[in-house]
Amino acid sequence: MQVRACALSDVGRTRRFNEDYFGLDNERRIFLVADGMGGHGNGEVASRLVVKSIQEFYDELESQSVFRRSRGSAERSQHLEEAVNLANSRVLEEVEKDGSLVGMGTTLVAMLVDTDRATVAHVGDSRAYRLRDNRLKLLTSDHTWVNEQVNAGNISESQAKTHPFKSVITRALGGDRDVQVELHDLELAPGDVYLLCSDGLTGMISDDSIRRHLAADEPLEEICNRLVAEANAEGGRDNITVLVMAVD
Ligand code: CA
Repeated sequence: MQVRACALSDVGRTRRFNEDYFGLDNERRIFLVADGMGGHGNGEVASRLVVKSIQEFYDELESQSVFRRSRGSAERSQHLEEAVNLANSRVLEEVEKDGSLVGMGTTLVAMLVDTDRATVAHVGDSRAYRLRDNRLKLLTSDHTWVNEQVNAGNISESQAKTHPFKSVITRALGGDRDVQVELHDLELAPGDVYLLCSDGLTGMISDDSIRRHLAADEPLEEICNRLVAEANAEGGRDNITVLVMAVD
């Protein structure tokens, strides 16, 4: 199956730095969105480092001609998990080398597409969505304190949306040495549209708006522009990153 992808990252309307970063590799079909944190622009160091590290991991696999041969869901997931773990170690090493970077970390949502299947990996509150038959499905679960409380039945979803701790994430790259990566294996279908995004989008606009934009019969560039523009129109309180991928 053919896929097309497009991405856009925007600083938003209130932040000084854009600490989000994306990786878009149409040829190898590796799609990444990372949302860095750490203040003073250090989050940008973490998000870039993670994206570059994952890309380098696949460069290395390709140079060993392992990448092209590794065509099974289990192997694809295993490689992606390895890539994410390695990226986590790279962030921790960087902090060890440079004390001024203490506290930096990043979320990650990654999608690796094979012929007709894909693996999604994520850590933190960046999300992956799929639009199919005009219905929007959230493919990831936020690794946040409020989401854990919702899942445990302690608070409702509507309480979670306005909770003062809603931005507290429970997993990030650059936190613990052993990071738990959540992995999903998916089957692609022609007409599917996927969105990877940072919480600067989902904190500002509703799932229904996202569905409407993804369903629009517009070029992917225009869909990216409209998503970012609406998040900014709603306040743009955080950096906004969107990566839209369509299956033909
Ligand atoms: Ca963010």
